[in-house]
Amino acid sequence: MDYTQAKHRIQQLKDILWENSRLYYVENAPTMSDFEYDQLMHELEGLEAQFPEYATEDSPTRRVGSDLEDGEREAGFAKYPHKYPMLSLGNTYSISEVEEFAQRAEKSLEHGFSYCCELKFDGTAICLTYRGGRLFRALTRGDGVVGDDVTANALRITNIPHELKGSGWPEEFEIRGEVLMPYESFDRLNHERELAEEPLFANPRNAASGSLKLQDPEEVGRRGLFCTLYHIPVGQVDFPTHDAALSAAASWGLPVSEHRSICRNIGQIEDFIAHWDKARKELPYATDGIVIKINELPLQAQLGYTAKSPRWAVAYKFKAEQALTPVLSIDYQVGRTGAVTPVANLEPVFISGTMVRRATLVNEDQIRSLDIHEGDWVYVEKGGEIIPKITAVEPSKRTPGAKEPVFPSVCPDCGTPLVKPDGEARWFCPNTTGCPTQIKGRIIHFVSRKAMNILAGEATVEQLYNLGLVHTPSDLYHLSESDLLRLEGWKTKSARRFLSSVRDSLKVPFERVLFAIGIRYVGETTARDIARHFGDIESLSKASREQLLEVPEVGEVIADSLLAFFSKEDSAREIERLRAAGLRLSVDQAGAKLSDALEGKTIVISGNFSVSRDEIKALIEAYGGKNGSSVSSKTAYLLAGTKPGPEKVKKATELGIPIIDEAAFREMAGIKDTPSAEIETEPTLF
Ligand code: NAD
Repeated sequence: MDYTQAKHRIQQLKDILWENSRLYYVENAPTMSDFEYDQLMHELEGLEAQFPEYATEDSPTRRVGSDLEDGEREAGFAKYPHKYPMLSLGNTYSISEVEEFAQRAEKSLEHGFSYCCELKFDGTAICLTYRGGRLFRALTRGDGVVGDDVTANALRITNIPHELKGSGWPEEFEIRGEVLMPYESFDRLNHERELAEEPLFANPRNAASGSLKLQDPEEVGRRGLFCTLYHIPVGQVDFPTHDAALSAAASWGLPVSEHRSICRNIGQIEDFIAHWDKARKELPYATDGIVIKINELPLQAQLGYTAKSPRWAVAYKFKAEQALTPVLSIDYQVGRTGAVTPVANLEPVFISGTMVRRATLVNEDQIRSLDIHEGDWVYVEKGGEIIPKITAVEPSKRTPGAKEPVFPSVCPDCGTPLVKPDGEARWFCPNTTGCPTQIKGRIIHFVSRKAMNILAGEATVEQLYNLGLVHTPSDLYHLSESDLLRLEGWKTKSARRFLSSVRDSLKVPFERVLFAIGIRYVGETTARDIARHFGDIESLSKASREQLLEVPEVGEVIADSLLAFFSKEDSAREIERLRAAGLRLSVDQAGAKLSDALEGKTIVISGNFSVSRDEIKALIEAYGGKNGSSVSSKTAYLLAGTKPGPEKVKKATELGIPIIDEAAFREMAGIKDTPSAEIETEPTLF
């Protein structure tokens, strides 16, 4: 790989990793498996070692993924700095790398030492501070430096003691661990969410992390979470070993797992790994590996930390659990865009604590490359996602004469012949306006939380469609209370709640309306960029291919998709009906480009402002600037509101980047109108 290719690939990997880190830690909705994520991280580490000139401070190899939310929700929890940074762990999927870790430790440590091997609990990290024997504060890992204060929620987790028992605990100390959701609670929660037509959690880790960040401690109490603690930062307690410190913590009533073992050599470590690789399947909660720690606390202090993880510990991660099971049949599902996805129905099999009955086969090419035949036994893997994947076929179990599946030539729902557009790996049903699954799929997308946020899920849409009440999204705006009372189980109260959410959706900004309309390839971010670029739907619908390509996020595929959408009469008719219903089809003033005063300036914002953070970001763009997510040498200003993140402030100070407040920003941009909302007067918390 030459320098240009390396630079390009490094940037690409950084973008992919940061985006997936956000999906994982903030949205609790990962779209790739941990294994895939870790492989990409290792590739980036390798490239940065080979091309150190492209290794930057903001690389995901040097920072822990942050669970702090960007945007308005950030204001939801008070933030406090950690006394000691909360870091990650170096990880590996290979025993030989664990051996290398042990060899390095043996080389650098002169005294005899031992290892403490523990389970790697797959939940969300928590840091508890006890002061005077009482739980004083609970923080999430946050960005490793500052965490969200979730004390009120931690107090509802039944095995976290409010008061310590026994004696000998320090007057004040921090202890860290993991909050977990047992499989049983996870299944119950997802079942309840399914009934309430709410999106399901992908796995117990995401459910634990989402639950810990709820604003309703009562609800947290109902979620069945529990905590296990595994680390007291060095310097707070006076014990010779990590194991002794954990035993003392257990004697104070703190929940510490007994599944740990002192190992003297690599052989014993390997036995521990081999034992738990099997035994963990019997545990009522998720584990994703083994953590191997140098046990002696003075030696831990001697080895210290890298920017991201301790040098005295390593995590050996188990590969995603696989199961071998036969394929009973293959369904071909039609999505809202008409794409046809093959899905295998499996003999139910238990993987990572949940029963798996279906797995995606992605597309026709994937069926060919797996060389799957009818009745084959397949290996199924459950990564971070909701939908398990088929990773391979077991050829020895194939029935002689088994046939290859035949991909349908017509839509399994409406019978229209399928088409495969150039450059597409998937087959599509072209009957966009008549195919029931596509129609319902579009409405489900339209009402979803990130789109119009109307209180309806799949079952409601199904009923509305079957009763002939809703055929296009605009029909939702013509429903009456008496129409809704025809739905099974609906009473006046549910009908009114629904109608009120329909009314509220009229306030949804144009960029989200554009996303809700569901034009193929136009996701949330692209919709926002397009909306801001064109300002209103008229200009967008009349834009030429060249004009569409001027939007930075828009490439040829998206441009063609937009042109195809706006060339259809049905689209024009539906847009007119949405307009008549009162939906916003142009950007608010803050969304339009108003001047070039901030042209060429990348501004990073931190803290709270007189208006929402999204509005500040929109103002930056409206006045010609660019929003940056982290402070780097390319940042022009750090725009700090109340309670700015200390890490961003520190970084800006180190790099000599000017830190400006909201008034200075408004003056610089030439924004004349005074903010409508009161400036927040809550005192800074640290
Ligand atoms: P990690 O989960 O690999 O390991 C560190 C964490 O393990 C610690 O912070 C701690 O919370 C936890 N832990 C559990 N048991 C422990 C024990 N006994 N002792 C010490 N710590 C213990 O690291 P991370 O930084 O939290 O997350 C990074 C990992 O998350 C990645 O390696 C990847 O697997 C996953 N991830 C996945 C995606 C995705 O899209 N699938 C995105 C981001 C991160």
